[in-house]
Amino acid sequence: MKIMKIKGIEVKLHVSTLVIIGMVGFSLGQWLFALTGGSAGWGQLVFAGVVGGLVFLFSIVLHELCHSLVALKYGIEIDEIELYLFGGVSKIKGEPTNPRQESIISVVGPLSSLALGGLLLLAFFLVAPVSFIGGVMLDYLGWANIFLGGFNLLPAFPMDGGRLLRAGLWKRRDDKLSATKTASRAGEIIGIIFVGLGFLEVFLVGIVGGIWLVLIGLFLRNSAANAYEQARIMNQFEGISVGDLVNEFSTQIPPDMSISEAFSGFFMRQKKQFFPVGTNGSISGVLVLDDVKDIPPGQRQKKKASDVMRTVDSFSTVSIDNSGDEVLTELNHMDSKPRMVLVKGSGDDLVGYVGVAEMQFFMRVASQ
Ligand SMILES: [Zn+2]
Repeated sequence: MKIMKIKGIEVKLHVSTLVIIGMVGFSLGQWLFALTGGSAGWGQLVFAGVVGGLVFLFSIVLHELCHSLVALKYGIEIDEIELYLFGGVSKIKGEPTNPRQESIISVVGPLSSLALGGLLLLAFFLVAPVSFIGGVMLDYLGWANIFLGGFNLLPAFPMDGGRLLRAGLWKRRDDKLSATKTASRAGEIIGIIFVGLGFLEVFLVGIVGGIWLVLIGLFLRNSAANAYEQARIMNQFEGISVGDLVNEFSTQIPPDMSISEAFSGFFMRQKKQFFPVGTNGSISGVLVLDDVKDIPPGQRQKKKASDVMRTVDSFSTVSIDNSGDEVLTELNHMDSKPRMVLVKGSGDDLVGYVGVAEMQFFMRVASQ
């Protein structure tokens, strides 16, 4: 669910976010109830819970926006910000190019949360003498933001603190992959510690808080392992050029050829998923296997290649000299099928394509 758009960045809300808003709201209401010795009315409790939950939601948005806006400043594209059960993620397209960029992008999020927390606590001193409920809410939300900032500073990659750790190691070792490995190992260890503490809490204190800690721990551990795996794959593609990945166009399908002929004469025979459509070297579009298969066999005789092809500009294009990791980033951030980019030669001519299958083939060949 899209909730707003700032500087071209979409902020989306995953359904699971409602759980966290509900939990924050509920615990704020519960606390208010306890502080007033049970004298707060339903209206007040619901008001405090709903407003508190929403303010907390916007605290997370603010935190993520700070990351995204600074990344934008460095020329890194942002896909979107998504809020979900464990907070938010800024979906950054591309990676910081040096440790300094990475540390600044990472640190602004927690700093904004700590600053907002400080401001809310300052406001508490002004509001508390006037409004008891207002004071309780400011106090609660102030500490919640300080907790949010502090939690994100844990050195558990890919969380902010873990990114700061990676940036530091990256600078010292001048080796991003090895820095990522250490920082994600730290993330896995912290995750396991959380799981352990969670089980301890289940036995000593209560089952709900304990299970919550276990879940957070598992989430941290998995994120760290996944983030390292992704970094490792990205690293493999950094050293090669698009030319090493490209599946070259060798033949063209004539625009007026029927789909059934194209299917048997090209797709079946050459076992490629994409063919250029055109005559004498000029390409007017691309015929996609999945599109062809969507046409019922009975109608394939009647339709022509030019009816079914997609236009060249409906695809992303990369240059053959670009680095392989740019293709990976492009494919990772594609949400519509087919996940494929067209490749331009040293002139402006299209020479082939790179899709998921080409990337997977390279990884198989490259792995020992
Ligand atoms: Zn953050």
